[in-house]
Amino acid sequence: LVSIKDVHKSFGKLEVLRGVSLDVKKGEVVCIIGPSGSGKSTLIRCINGLNDIQKGSILVEGQEVNDPKLDKLALRKKVGIVFQQYNLFPHKTALENVMMAPVKVLKEPRREVEERARALIAKVRLSGKEDVYPGHLSGGQQQRVAIARSLAMRPDVMLFDEVTAALDPETVKEVLLTIKELAAEGMTCILVTHEMGFAREVADHVYFTDRGVIVEHGPPEELFTKAKDERTQRFLSQIF
Ligand code: ATP
Ligand code: MG
Repeated sequence: LVSIKDVHKSFGKLEVLRGVSLDVKKGEVVCIIGPSGSGKSTLIRCINGLNDIQKGSILVEGQEVNDPKLDKLALRKKVGIVFQQYNLFPHKTALENVMMAPVKVLKEPRREVEERARALIAKVRLSGKEDVYPGHLSGGQQQRVAIARSLAMRPDVMLFDEVTAALDPETVKEVLLTIKELAAEGMTCILVTHEMGFAREVADHVYFTDRGVIVEHGPPEELFTKAKDERTQRFLSQIF
């Protein structure tokens, strides 16, 4: 579903991605771990075209993301993204936040969208909060609204960039549970995360990045217990 080959990305003289390759099949959950500044967010942003690349190829469902002729809107629809900062519209209720893009961007009929949005709010376990404004929701609840908002576009793949990093431990769990449920339903997910327990439990495959390259990757039980590369071992030993 997502095929990344030899991607290079620089910001000015700073080479942030130096030949990254990664493959994600439909229904797979892939976690990307690695030290700060290793290029994880940059990579995630390249997948839905928020960052351009200098070299290499990124295919989403066989379509080249960096093809200038590519319909960006179609890509954004296919690839949902959720960030650490949830960026909900503060003057819109939870329901309105979830409905916004399908109504305004996709011009879908309001009634249809509303039905779907209500179902999504229930799915992220926020039934009853439809008419509440973001300021009156906890961080974890806001993040789940942000996830529902992304799902409202009916994406084929979801990208999560450290979505629990700004939350306190109790609310982290509820957000991870939501992602776990999504994964169990077969949603293709690519997550940047520092939640190693979660990665271990949910990921089909884990990639360890350092300084713009993938140092090693493999099934979680392999990477977490039998890392071959010294950099991976060092990184994991700091966490466990
Ligand atoms: P973290 O774990 O801290 O989120 P990361 O692995 O996500 O780190 P990136 O955000 O991808 O790292 O950043 C990688 C490098 O690229 C950093 O050195 C960062 O300063 C640089 N960088 C990221 N975005 C930009 C930008 N828009 N302009 C210039 N430099 C950038
Ligand atoms: Mg980051």
